[in-house]
Amino acid sequence: MTAFHAIFLGAPGAGKGTQAKKLAGVSGCLHVSTGDMLREHRSQGTELGCQAQGYMDEGKLVPDGLMVEMVVERIARPDAADAWILDGFPRTGEQALALDRAVDDSAGGITHAVFFDVPHGSLIDRLTGRRTCSQCGAIWHIKFKPTSRDEICDDCEGALVHRSDDNEAVVEQRLSAYRTQTEPVLDYYRDRGLFCEVNADQAPDAVFEDLGKVMLKEVG
Ligand code: AMP
Repeated sequence: MTAFHAIFLGAPGAGKGTQAKKLAGVSGCLHVSTGDMLREHRSQGTELGCQAQGYMDEGKLVPDGLMVEMVVERIARPDAADAWILDGFPRTGEQALALDRAVDDSAGGITHAVFFDVPHGSLIDRLTGRRTCSQCGAIWHIKFKPTSRDEICDDCEGALVHRSDDNEAVVEQRLSAYRTQTEPVLDYYRDRGLFCEVNADQAPDAVFEDLGKVMLKEVG
């Protein structure tokens, strides 16, 4: 696959992070997860982390100005000169426009907008049962992808954590933000012929196989 600049779209819990990590592992591309970056800022107590905290805890989107600045700075670094995946960005029309300004055609433009399609009814279970390794970031699920030992990562033996925004009340708010603010962004990419779709309501390996097919195919 030649250098690609892919954005991964889909509701919280659709599996974007799992698939992005796997694709980055196989292809060597850079994986930029805005949620992970914000959590890192929070754990380091940076100004951005403090500004984002309240929004994240309530399941609301962090304001566009903060997000755009963080992402534009990240993809301008030398390690983003080749292929990358943006996981969790853009989530609003304003972010999509700002991304276009930052990644113009001379930089190869956006090559794929991949939508991970999951029925809304599955998302609450997926999110509330999700567990993340505090050490390596691997994503597990108590029902759909359990580890062999409770609360211990199979990959690195790190302790698993339950994200505080993966509880039911906050999940409802995150899904509502997705429906009102992010879903309209899908049409923006559909209209530009960059859109491709993966059935993400399958086992992770089957989703990954489909992802490979859509990313190898000319989009349009
Ligand atoms: P995620 O890990 O992608 O589910 O993101 C966790 C939280 O970080 C979201 O609920 C938002 O509060 C914030 N966040 C992540 N990405 C964005 C974005 N592109 N725009 C606004 N807020 C974001």
